[in-house]
Amino acid sequence: MADSDSRRTRKAAPRSRRASEAAPRSRRAAEAAPRDRSTREPGARAIRALITGARDDEDVRAVICERARKLGVMGWVRADGKGTLELHAEGPSAVVEALLALLREGLAGASASARDVRDVRVEGHEHFAIRGLSSGAFVVQEHAATTRHFDLRLEVDGVMRSWAVPKGPPMDPAAKRLAVQVEDHSIEHNDFEGRTDHGAVVIWDRGTYEQGGRVAWPEALDRGHAVFVLHGEKLRGGFALQRTGRGRKPQWLLIKRRDEHARIGSDIVAEQPASVISHRTLDELLREAASA
Ligand code: MN
Repeated sequence: MADSDSRRTRKAAPRSRRASEAAPRSRRAAEAAPRDRSTREPGARAIRALITGARDDEDVRAVICERARKLGVMGWVRADGKGTLELHAEGPSAVVEALLALLREGLAGASASARDVRDVRVEGHEHFAIRGLSSGAFVVQEHAATTRHFDLRLEVDGVMRSWAVPKGPPMDPAAKRLAVQVEDHSIEHNDFEGRTDHGAVVIWDRGTYEQGGRVAWPEALDRGHAVFVLHGEKLRGGFALQRTGRGRKPQWLLIKRRDEHARIGSDIVAEQPASVISHRTLDELLREAASA
């Protein structure tokens, strides 16, 4: 899965028709393309390694992350949940080799044997991250106001970055959904479900999410391409937000990435309309409000 990670992102990202309509070529390229860093230069190397012997996943991941950052290695480390860590490391050959040398000697009791290291394609990572960690809360609130829409909110630096998605989030990778960036909301608002002055809100889905992609957040959002993994009750797996137009209310596309959670041809907002809290639909809530 991880191998195809960035390839898919690249395929999905800059080639949308909306993007070509909305933005001049040069800006599009600047937004979508990874910056030129050493990983793109000749002499760059990328490896995948399996690291075993770690008694405490968490400590070892932190140590590997710290060493990688100190050396200037890009990529990620993650636990497979069965006591093995997977490492993607890339950068100038010398620094990748320096990290491997440390791992062969053993870091915090963990080590990578030579047979568990293989060369892979350079993906253009711009930071080193621990993958598989929660980055905070996400919520999707269905909202009846002037228009009906779904508000997708992701916790970033203590606030909920928000997008209004008229047709709701997709689980079908072919369904690219317009997502209009709206003002940040407070984390407290995540728990709101009920009537408003002129409509109502239900909590359609909620859970935690992981930041992904080759660029650190929130820079990834600033640059208009962010990849993340949702752990909700309805929404699961990888998603991407790709900015296609700027202005007062920037337009984005919300896209389900191809993974084991994707459901071709599905329309999850029609199939599972009820609140994950009260199990009522927005229509039911509006009817109750009207008859009250
Ligand atoms: Mn709204």
